[in-house]
Amino acid sequence: TKWVYGFGAGRNDGKADMRNLLGGKGANLAEMASIGLPVPPGFTVTTEVCTYYYDNGRQYPPELKAQADEALARIEEAVGAKFGDATNPLLVSVRSGARVSMPGMMDTVLNLGLNDDTVQGLAKRSGDERFAWDSYRRFVQMYGSVVLGVDHHRFEEIIEEAKHSSGAVEDTELTAADWQKVVAEYKAMVAQAIGKPFPLDPQDQLWGAIGAVFGSWMNPRANTYRRLHDIPASWGTAVNVQAMVFGNMGNDCATGVCFTRDPSTGENIFYGEYLINAQGEDVVAGIRTPQPMAKEKAKPGERSMEEAMPEAYAELCKVRETLERHYTDMQDIEFTVQSNKLYMLQTRNGKRTAAASLKVAVDMAEEGLIDRTEAVKRVSPGSLDQLLHPTLDPKAPRKVLTKGLPASPGAACGVVVFSAEEAEARANKGEAVVLVRIETSPEDIAGMHAAKGILTTRGGMTSHAAVVARGMGRPCVAGAGGIVVDYAAGTISAGGQVVRGGETITLDGATGEVFLGAVPMIEPKLSGDFATLMGWADEVRRLKVRANAETPLDADTARKFGAEGIGLCRTEHMFFDADRIGSVRQMIMSETEGGRRAALEKLLPFQRSDFVELFRIMAGLPVTIRLLDPPLHEFLPHKDEELAEVAESLGADLATMKRRAADLSEANPMLGHRGCRLGVTFPEIYEMQARAIFEAALEIAEETGKPVVPEIMIPLVGMKKELEITRAQVDKVAKEVFEAKGKSVEYLVGTMIELPRAALTADRIAESADFFSFGTNDLTQTTFGLSRDDAGKFLPYYVEKDILPKDPFVSLDVEGVGALVEIAAEKGRKTKDKLKLGICGEHGGDPASIQFCETAGLDYVSCSPYRVPVARLAAAQAAL
Ligand code: PEP
Ligand code: MG
Repeated sequence: TKWVYGFGAGRNDGKADMRNLLGGKGANLAEMASIGLPVPPGFTVTTEVCTYYYDNGRQYPPELKAQADEALARIEEAVGAKFGDATNPLLVSVRSGARVSMPGMMDTVLNLGLNDDTVQGLAKRSGDERFAWDSYRRFVQMYGSVVLGVDHHRFEEIIEEAKHSSGAVEDTELTAADWQKVVAEYKAMVAQAIGKPFPLDPQDQLWGAIGAVFGSWMNPRANTYRRLHDIPASWGTAVNVQAMVFGNMGNDCATGVCFTRDPSTGENIFYGEYLINAQGEDVVAGIRTPQPMAKEKAKPGERSMEEAMPEAYAELCKVRETLERHYTDMQDIEFTVQSNKLYMLQTRNGKRTAAASLKVAVDMAEEGLIDRTEAVKRVSPGSLDQLLHPTLDPKAPRKVLTKGLPASPGAACGVVVFSAEEAEARANKGEAVVLVRIETSPEDIAGMHAAKGILTTRGGMTSHAAVVARGMGRPCVAGAGGIVVDYAAGTISAGGQVVRGGETITLDGATGEVFLGAVPMIEPKLSGDFATLMGWADEVRRLKVRANAETPLDADTARKFGAEGIGLCRTEHMFFDADRIGSVRQMIMSETEGGRRAALEKLLPFQRSDFVELFRIMAGLPVTIRLLDPPLHEFLPHKDEELAEVAESLGADLATMKRRAADLSEANPMLGHRGCRLGVTFPEIYEMQARAIFEAALEIAEETGKPVVPEIMIPLVGMKKELEITRAQVDKVAKEVFEAKGKSVEYLVGTMIELPRAALTADRIAESADFFSFGTNDLTQTTFGLSRDDAGKFLPYYVEKDILPKDPFVSLDVEGVGALVEIAAEKGRKTKDKLKLGICGEHGGDPASIQFCETAGLDYVSCSPYRVPVARLAAAQAAL
């Protein structure tokens, strides 16, 4: 077996696509060398050695030593120096390199091969004794801390002492003799700490460092990181051994880390830092202030590399271009300049912000480096969320109060209020408020809308607060169980800290964090690049994207973000406005059909004008309207005065009202008298809604001269009969309205598939349905037998312990819920091969779930307005 791969000096055993075997660093070093870039020669010990090592009781493969010796000899020949030679020593660096870069592992040892003899050779060869002793002390320090595990403070103490006794302020003022003394003290300290002498034989040093890299693959920090990022332990790490080049050999030497474009904005400018006369770790250590690369980026008092080292900089600019053309992506590189000659030590695709990712993708497509489909693939749909909402300034200081679920992205800051009414009142006076509730209910909608952000202590990712906040584009942290909200006292308390109503807090809905006070924010900029990329995405996607929206504002937002219709208008959200809630309550509390009809009569004009507005905004695009779904008690007042008002309007007494309210309460309302069960038992409700829809549709068809095709959707159907009955009600009203007006519109009647029974009998249900829309919120709840409002209490634990890979209310459970969706789609289309299929649960805005919808052959996804761009991009990627 080949365990060792050489690179540089004209022999490259590896290439970029061998990262599984050589790790990212090793593969790219070989690739850079093979395209003619200046890479110091070296070799990579493969990840298979790591696997072998752990499979065989921490033993190396027997052939390894000979292969490494041979590779080392090749480096010696290329460089013209010998490892361990006292007159002309070869020094090497040893670095880890897994498939993906992985913090927590041993990183780097530089200057390996130095000892009391070779340091003399280095001094003579370089003609610089101070450089030689400085390199030696760096080596003992790095090897001592990363390989031998000696606390790095103990090294710092010795340096401080040395500076103190020689009267120096900066490290740079220490002389060769000072460093020589430091080396001796280091070695003594290390020997004492580890109970044996510091290894001076270069071969021992080399194998010690290689062993430390492999050993660090299984250290607790690396294990934790792997678990958090789904990296299997079996991947292993590679080790790279490479001839040293020195950035610390004088003022014509330097070292730097940079990006081929600006990783925070994506701007096409050389971005990064370098230091003259320094070694790699100095740039990150923060002892000296690194300087910018490009002159353009230099602030007063700074000296860019472009100015200080024009030749090396010019060469680096050429390398930058070569690398981008070769890898067709933004690169993150490390380099060293030794005596004005440039060497490349690393390249990899650079990490970037969402904004940079978008700009780089669009720019590169326009520069012709990649094509448009590639640009579409490059941007992570989830990252668009960040671009549509304000975010916290990453540099701003902050003090965490608590952490809940990241229920709706964006940052919000405002004074704490504990009720929807107060939120409205204070917002009307121009105050920024954050609405803090144990949980929210539909009657809080206006207050939620008035608030900048919403914080709840109970409920999961599909709780009322989460769903509504996402729909409105309000940042929301839900289920923050670590705080206690006391409405009576007007306080939030968490671990001894107390925040009172009227005090300011800040939420980060993308992370779930809540902070004390105001944290500065950055406003989003929707640049032209955003529209450009969206346009490219639209060209390749098959799935249509609609929005879940009921208010004119939501509908407007949805259209602005490119929604192709409304996939779910939850009519119950229209029941709460102040001008109609009274009639709604009157309807609910009536004991007779006649009483209910009288109240519904008053509701009709409100509903009709809501639909008129919605149809007008959507201008001929499809609009799916769901008839009433929630259990009726959700609309009941909580306060006696309000109940008394309803009593008065009905000519009843308060006691009767209280009894009626108690009758309506249910042990498990999610599985109770709701959805089409309401329509079946109180047909007059759906009749009123259907009438409002048809009258509105006729009005807008006449106004615009264009057809309006309402799609009426029946919720929570489990049996074909339920759909037949409710559909007949709708058809009857349609006939009446059309006859009365002497005009008609086309319309569809479909159903939500949100109960397992509906999915399993979808072939029968399809006989009466013009379309299906998967209500995957309820379908998840009913498939798992898991209440969406209570899941927050233990689901995070399930995810943490890997019992579930993800929160199934966020990302569709393909295995279980997905199987039901597939069954229903197949059965439905067996009955009607053109049956229109959509999804309107929260999953409709989740990229992984959208991928599933593409495979399952759905026609459209429907999601919160603010997620429409995410869905458009995810749908495009799913189609590619
Ligand atoms: C669903 O259940 O997925 C759905 C869209 O309806 P709601 O969230 O209103 O129950
Ligand atoms: Mg539902």
